[in-house]
Amino acid sequence: MTPVAESVRRYASDRLFLSAAIAILISVILVEGGGRALLALPVLAVALAVYAAIVLRRRSGWLSALESGLDEGVSEFIRERVPFYGPLDPEQRRRFEDLCAIFLYDHRITGVDGITPGPGIRGMVASSAARLILGRPEWSYPDFGEVLIYPGEFSDDGSFSTDPAPRESRVAGMAHSTGSAVILSLPHLVRGFSRPGEGNVALHEFAHVLDGLPWADGIPDNLPAPRVKPWTEMMRKEFEKVRDGRSVLRDYAGKNPAELFAVAVEVFFESPLLLKARQPDLYEGLKDFFGQDPAAGASYGFLPEEPGVDSGTPDAQSGQDSDGQLPASTESSDLH
Ligand SMILES: [Zn+2]
Repeated sequence: MTPVAESVRRYASDRLFLSAAIAILISVILVEGGGRALLALPVLAVALAVYAAIVLRRRSGWLSALESGLDEGVSEFIRERVPFYGPLDPEQRRRFEDLCAIFLYDHRITGVDGITPGPGIRGMVASSAARLILGRPEWSYPDFGEVLIYPGEFSDDGSFSTDPAPRESRVAGMAHSTGSAVILSLPHLVRGFSRPGEGNVALHEFAHVLDGLPWADGIPDNLPAPRVKPWTEMMRKEFEKVRDGRSVLRDYAGKNPAELFAVAVEVFFESPLLLKARQPDLYEGLKDFFGQDPAAGASYGFLPEEPGVDSGTPDAQSGQDSDGQLPASTESSDLH
């Protein structure tokens, strides 16, 4: 059994055990309360059964996705176009592909305004998400619904319009605060691969998801409790560096702690040598959290002979990407 399959089985058994334990505890309290409190027992039983059904259904779907594997188009794209994949050893490759398969099972990828998500788009989205959790196969993304692929920047005024708008109100990506969707501009998604080190909107938005929507605060949900205090202190110091202009992170990281985390994740994976040399404490903190040491590994991006990504809309690949003015992760004033 692969490590990811083991994690899936453990995910289900841990949750079922925990929910059963909580149900038993509540049942004891209700029985001791007697009288009308006993009427809540059937409700508790139904709630436990529904939760167990949801967990088992997700477990079954994940195992099925692992057994089926990636479709050939996505698999070929990742194999041939994502250099990060190349240097991985066979076990890491299998784990990476498994994580991509689970992500694609869990999340619908929908094109907007004529974009048809083919193997290239699906491969870019899934490999970006899987890259963040490769070192922690026990992690999984919350079921945030779908990933919307927009043909370019879009308005953050709630209309999500792709019509021309003032530059300050256009964004390249968004992790919706309700946790219902992640939105990515296709040219910026592509640029994250074709120009490593210049920002990566997909890594940025998925970092927000791991942070924990809708309450992203720069202290990710998966951070072990004993590490929260030192992590918070580390982030406070890094935040001051950004505000004082002493950080390699771009100014946008100084907007709030959630953006600090998301921008730091981009730099950690895309410019690890720079981050390690200039801000070793931040690098070590992220290395420990993600269980990865990208400074010791390969670069991340398309192979040199890029571009040629399927989109169904050729203009979407060039379009606004050619202006070179808007950073890949310029976003709205909330935690998107
Ligand atoms: Zn952000």
